[in-house]
Amino acid sequence: MYSDEKLLPLSGLQHILYCVRQCALIHIEQQWADNFFTAKGIVMHEKVHNEKIERKKDIVIERDIYIRSHALGLVGKSDVVEFHKSGARLLPFPVEYKIGKPKEDNTDKVQLCAQCICLEEMTGCNIPRGAIFYGKTRSRLNVEFDKELRAQTTKLAGEFHELIESGVTPKPEYSKKCSNCSFNEICLPEIFGRKSTVKQYLRDIVNEETV
Ligand code: SF4
Repeated sequence: MYSDEKLLPLSGLQHILYCVRQCALIHIEQQWADNFFTAKGIVMHEKVHNEKIERKKDIVIERDIYIRSHALGLVGKSDVVEFHKSGARLLPFPVEYKIGKPKEDNTDKVQLCAQCICLEEMTGCNIPRGAIFYGKTRSRLNVEFDKELRAQTTKLAGEFHELIESGVTPKPEYSKKCSNCSFNEICLPEIFGRKSTVKQYLRDIVNEETV
């Protein structure tokens, strides 16, 4: 169990799953780089958070709730938590808002699962599922919080803590995802992350220009 002083931002899980170096740049070196996607995401979140608490027939919807888990060592905010009537109780159902469409990897699901574990710790409820709303497809993806997703989330939270404890930013590793990464211009993975040397990279540029 982590103490209050050791709690880290829940958003770090999606960063470490996407790229360990990106995670270190944000959470160790405190750098942040906006690109079109992150800027649009912030606007979308502000829209979500501007609305008030809603009450529907069997659902109470609350926005912008602070959440934390001492087991994971994480603290953050939930975009939306719907409380669904279940017998005499209200069962939390976390909903995360994302721009774009469902991803092939688990970055969004892991973040939602961490919210689920926080809410379970805070409320004592067992939360079986939640949902992610994607702006591009204007649709909800239901997410089951099964054993595998919970295990992946817990493992990543541990790795996130180890990275922060180490205080070391790893070197870049160039891959396809670098072209969509908001840190591309800070990180320069094309130069420092390729297996070939900087000398070779510069030689390639000169060759391309003289062709
Ligand atoms: S540009 Fe590539 S290596 Fe650098 S932080 Fe982004 S994903 Fe990681």
